[in-house]
Amino acid sequence: MLVDSHIHLARLPEPVALAQHLHARNIRWTAVACEPWEWTKLDQIWEESRRQGLIEGCNLAFGVHPMIASQVGDNEWRNLERFLLKYPSAQVGETGLDKRFPGYEMGGIQESFFIQQAKMARELGRDLQIHCVGDYGRILANFGSGRSIVSGSAAKPHPLFHRFGGDIGIAKRALELGALFSLHADSFKKKATAEAIKIIPKECLKVETDADESFVNLPTLKKASSEQWAEYLEKILFENQAKINSIQ
Ligand SMILES: [Zn+2]
Repeated sequence: MLVDSHIHLARLPEPVALAQHLHARNIRWTAVACEPWEWTKLDQIWEESRRQGLIEGCNLAFGVHPMIASQVGDNEWRNLERFLLKYPSAQVGETGLDKRFPGYEMGGIQESFFIQQAKMARELGRDLQIHCVGDYGRILANFGSGRSIVSGSAAKPHPLFHRFGGDIGIAKRALELGALFSLHADSFKKKATAEAIKIIPKECLKVETDADESFVNLPTLKKASSEQWAEYLEKILFENQAKINSIQ
């Protein structure tokens, strides 16, 4: 059985039909929704997939991506909490830092949104899907900050580094926090990350497609059926798993 630890199902064409074909191939997934419209759409996709018996072993994640940090206000936060409470197993995220978007600076909005979501993950006892393009050190330093004010909520969530691209030093520090590492084809391109993968225990390594709307323009998928989509995603997961096996 293969598990896609990070897929944006709500951004793909015919998501429920795709869920059917993934199910038929024995592929499980965690569908990530990281902005308000995507939360609503994923909620609908999940409900329909559940009715069709397609969600066993699958999960969801709801959060605020650093790319949209400046567009989220009080209403959206309340809505996010509502979705997280509706789904007791759902993860929080993806959230994090991305130097390509506004608010990346020290103490900026990306950082405060990350701290806020890390706190939600702790209070609710959920794993946290982390997106990082830039400073992994700052993510690690902030993961445990923003102490929970709710007493007795000592649940310790796992940070899950999606599309991991850190080095050995980062991997070691993250492992001390109970981290999981989700690997994308890009994770194997950097020599320093490939070195880090060698020292991470197998049970902490996951694979992902990070499939989103950008996949629609790939030559192989342009006019593809849902079945062909599932086949393509399966191939990515197999290849990533094979790369892990060859490195370790
Ligand atoms: Zn993502």
